[in-house]
Formats: sequence, C-alpha cells, structure tokens
Amino acid sequence: MNDEKSQKTVLVVDDTESNLDMVLAILQDYDVIPCTSGADALSIMKEEPVDLVLLDILMPEMDGYTVCTRLKSDVSTQEIPIIFITAKTDEESIEKAYELGGADYVTKPFKPKELLARVKVQLRLQDVIRELDFLATRDNLTGLYNRRKFFELGEVLFNDAAENLYALMIDIDHFKKINDQYGHSVGDIALKKVTSVISDMVPPDAVFGRLGGEEFAVLFLSENHDTTMEITSKILKTVAEATIPLKDGSSFSCTISIGVACKQDTTSSIDGLLKDADMTLYEAKESGRNKSIFRER
Ligand code: GH3
Ligand code: MG
Ligand code: MG
Repeated sequence: MNDEKSQKTVLVVDDTESNLDMVLAILQDYDVIPCTSGADALSIMKEEPVDLVLLDILMPEMDGYTVCTRLKSDVSTQEIPIIFITAKTDEESIEKAYELGGADYVTKPFKPKELLARVKVQLRLQDVIRELDFLATRDNLTGLYNRRKFFELGEVLFNDAAENLYALMIDIDHFKKINDQYGHSVGDIALKKVTSVISDMVPPDAVFGRLGGEEFAVLFLSENHDTTMEITSKILKTVAEATIPLKDGSSFSCTISIGVACKQDTTSSIDGLLKDADMTLYEAKESGRNKSIFRER
C-alpha cells in the first residue's frame, strides 16, 4: 500500500474516458479526481486543494497547453506540478510542455509502473520544496514568520491596505530576568508559550512575525482604534494569566508590552508604520510595562 494514501490529491485531465479509467486504476492508492475537459480542470482547481495534475494535451475546446499556462499564471496554482500525458511524441511538443512549466512528460501508451514512479517523484519533490519553503520563511523556535518573510508579506499588506492597517510591536517584559532566573531553555519555553497565546488571539489572516530576540510584530486590518485596543487588552490579560511550568512543579508567568500604530496618509512605508509602533512600545515600557499604548501621530 502507498503510505501517502488519502493525503495526496491528483487531478487527472483527459477527454477519453478509457484513458481516465486506466490512470485511475494505476493511482488507486491516491485520492484521484478525474475530469474530461480543460475548463472543468480549471474550475476544480479553484475549489479543491490539488497536489499534482496529470494533463492530456490534445483535447477539444481547451488543450493541455492552455490549461497549463492558466495554472502557471495564477499564484494560487502555479506551484502545483503538472505531468503531461500525451500521444504527442515529437520533440517540439515535448519542448513546449517544459517551456510552459510542465514538470514531466509521459507519452502514450505509457507503462503503468513508470507512470506511478514519476507521480511519486513529483509528489516527493513537492514535499521537499514545501519543507524548504517552511524552513526558509519561519522562525524555528516559535514557528512564526521570520523577519524576512514578515517584511515581504507586510509590504504587500501595506500597499493593498487603506487606513485600517494596524501594527503591534510586542516585547516581553524583563525577559532577561527570566533567562537569568530559570535558564535559557525555560526562556525558550516562555517565548513559545507567549507567542502561541498571541497567535490564538489575533485575527486569522494577521501577519505575525518574530523580528528578533523577544521582539515580535503583528499586522492586521481592523475596523477602528477601539476594536484594535480591545484585542490588545485581551492579549495582555491572557498572556499575563498564562503559566509556564517548571520542573519542580511550580510555575511562573510573564507580561508583555505592546506599541500600537495605524497606517495614516502620511505613513510612507511598512518600516515607517513599524517605527511608529516601536515608539509607542517604548512609551509603554517607560510608563510601567504590561500595557498597550496607541497614539496617533
Ligand atoms: P524590557 O522589559 O525592557 O524589554 O527588558 P528585557 O529584559 O526583556 O529586555 P532586554 O532587551 O534587556 O533583554 C532581552 C533578552 O532576551 C536578552 C536575550 O538574552 C534574551 N533573548 C533573546 N532571544 C532569545 C531566545 O531566543 N531565547 C531566550 N531564552 N532568550 C532570548
Ligand atoms: Mg523585553
Ligand atoms: Mg528587547
């Protein structure tokens, strides 16, 4: 049996039903979606999470090249590998398939075991790429976006957003003391705990990153200042109430300070917005910690 069963979905596009049946029999250990036209393939891809596409080239109305071009020009589908399965064996057709972004090319009549092996290779490659992408974009202690990815996503958000984009700059209070008192590894556990509590409380599409050390930033769209400050108050309260267990059975808790800023017509960049949040964070620290401050410039 295939140990990837039920995890991987393969879309098979071919206008000839008997070809579909044959491929279905070969890929019986996968979750296979058969479809008989390019247009159907495109609409299925909009609705379903698909891991791999097996694509015929010669089809009436929309050919496989057109389907491939459409999938590669859409950010939501461009990373999904496509294996062409076709009766076209001339060099130009094969070259074109790769030029348009195809990952592999199998000619009909194909050998079942070869097709299965090629499918496995593409799915394995895709897992590796996803894993590398995760490692390249996340902070490995907290799983949050790393600084580089945070700014990349933040810039997109900043350029698209109107004046309802908010930034929170968050810093753990007296974190050095926690390290000094309980050790660095307990400090790490505290970092994970605090960030997971915050993750649960920010809007689901918020961009949350670790900017360095025990400093974090969150970007999200919010209705108004009051709604935003309600969120930060809840975060402060929940973090302060969370406990970090120690080996001896006791536990401790920590607090954070939050600087809040909102995009204004004078805010020129994501860096500018975060600088504003950093200034209010400084005020929160100076005026006693365990609080969030928002002040319009
Ligand atoms: P403040 O309330 O003013 O923010 O005081 P603080 O002690 O939190 O701030 P400071 O910047 O002086 O110290 C931050 C400490 O965070 C120092 C550093 O050793 C620790 N730190 C940074 N990154 C990590 C990490 O990944 N793990 C652990 N355990 N500690 C870290
Ligand atoms: Mg700190
Ligand atoms: Mg600090």
